[in-house]
Amino acid sequence: MSKPIVAIVGRPNVGKSTLFNVLAGETISIVKDTPGVTRDRIYADCTWLNMNFTLVDTGGIEPDSRDIILSQMREQAQIAIDTADVIIFIVDVRQGLQDSDSKVADMLRKSGKPVVLAVNKVDSIQKFGNDVYEFYNLGIGDPIPVSAASRLGIGDLLDEVSKHFTLEQLEEEEDDRPKVAIIGKPNVGKSSIINKLLGENRVIVSNIAGTTRDAVDTEVVYNGTEYIFIDTAGLRRKSKIKEDLERYSIIRTVSAVERADVVILVIDATEGVTEQDAKIAGIAHDRGKGIIVAVNKWDAIEKNDKTIYEFTRKIKDTLSFMQYAEMVFISAVTGQRMNKMFELIDMVRENQTMRIATGVLNEIMTEAVAMQQPPSDKGKRLKLYYMTQVAVKPPTFVIFVNDKELMHFSYVRYLENRIRESFGFKGTALKFLIRERN
Ligand code: GDP
Ligand code: GDP
Repeated sequence: MSKPIVAIVGRPNVGKSTLFNVLAGETISIVKDTPGVTRDRIYADCTWLNMNFTLVDTGGIEPDSRDIILSQMREQAQIAIDTADVIIFIVDVRQGLQDSDSKVADMLRKSGKPVVLAVNKVDSIQKFGNDVYEFYNLGIGDPIPVSAASRLGIGDLLDEVSKHFTLEQLEEEEDDRPKVAIIGKPNVGKSSIINKLLGENRVIVSNIAGTTRDAVDTEVVYNGTEYIFIDTAGLRRKSKIKEDLERYSIIRTVSAVERADVVILVIDATEGVTEQDAKIAGIAHDRGKGIIVAVNKWDAIEKNDKTIYEFTRKIKDTLSFMQYAEMVFISAVTGQRMNKMFELIDMVRENQTMRIATGVLNEIMTEAVAMQQPPSDKGKRLKLYYMTQVAVKPPTFVIFVNDKELMHFSYVRYLENRIRESFGFKGTALKFLIRERN
């Protein structure tokens, strides 16, 4: 499944962040435990009437001088055009129609992307209702009056946005070719890896038709199987502002990861693993994708018999939330272990879709409970009744218990480890949902 991406664009102070927080806050569906990724709210997973989408805020730091407002708005609009499926263009009824609004509206209209026009700060329809009509002049359709601060009109806005979601985005895709996103910081070797794969395997290169986003899709045939590689490195954006560049690359990563089954996180061996790598890894972890950590430029460092071991330990330390990730040490220059990557992709994909019979799961659970007593609080002990797998990609388990409050994170982790001891599930996160039953 590939969730649609919705971007918010608008001038400074029209209420982008307020709207973002309202949409994310009211509809947010997943509780995140990944460090580093949720603090700056560049994106959020949202649900509206059973439809899932990813919301992104393209607004970086606010410009401090008037003359750069327009150029920065253009840049944000371009990011939205490149990465989003639907764009929410937000204007401010109190400031009225501004020249820069019209210019950006022109740009959005020409892009052909679906745009929904939100007129914000309509806190009272009696007072401001008539002022909304002015925004028809933007030529991008019906203005929808909202008040982000008082949460008015939000349902109408989301209805309008979700009209533009296609069935393809909302349903399981027919295409069953493995889709692999290559992600990582700039200059770690993402493009080099793709180029090497293309060179080695004499493949058809094609930009897959119908992709609405700017990640470049490449088809690679290996051992008779077709793989789709989603490259986030291909296109680069120039910006003088470092924060904007970072924001842009995160949004692009989210959009690539969204479409992928398996994600290859590339780390530069000459730099070692960093917090920024962890932040990028978190995007794939949050989405429950299959994950392979590829340590690239393995040719370029001095090694002895302990080097792989030390790298592995450091990566496990820094990416502590994804102990399950597969690791491979490669060189896009020499081609070392590039073929191993395909084996790992196949394996991780199988693990993502593996289903365990309920009977077997309950045997494991019963044995686990016998070996380590569940936690208790104030004389009440956690009882586990039943466990069953309810979904794949990622494998998701429901555990029925007597009292949710008694279930500790550490006990879930313990059960997860028992399941992994039996079935491995290498390269994929496992998700656990705790439900009460009396
Ligand atoms: P951004 O710069 O576009 O992200 O705008 P913010 O979300 O930071 O909002 C700018 C200002 O407008 C803040 O002072 C908000 O409290 C205010 N604001 C946002 N939404 C509304 C609204 O619906 N009505 C009113 N009256 N003020 C709002
Ligand atoms: P991207 O920004 O992640 O796509 O990185 P590039 O593929 O553009 O590579 C950045 C730089 O690293 C280039 O100068 C590459 O030649 C170099 N590079 C990429 N892979 C390797 C590798 O495996 N070994 C060495 N020594 N250099 C590499």
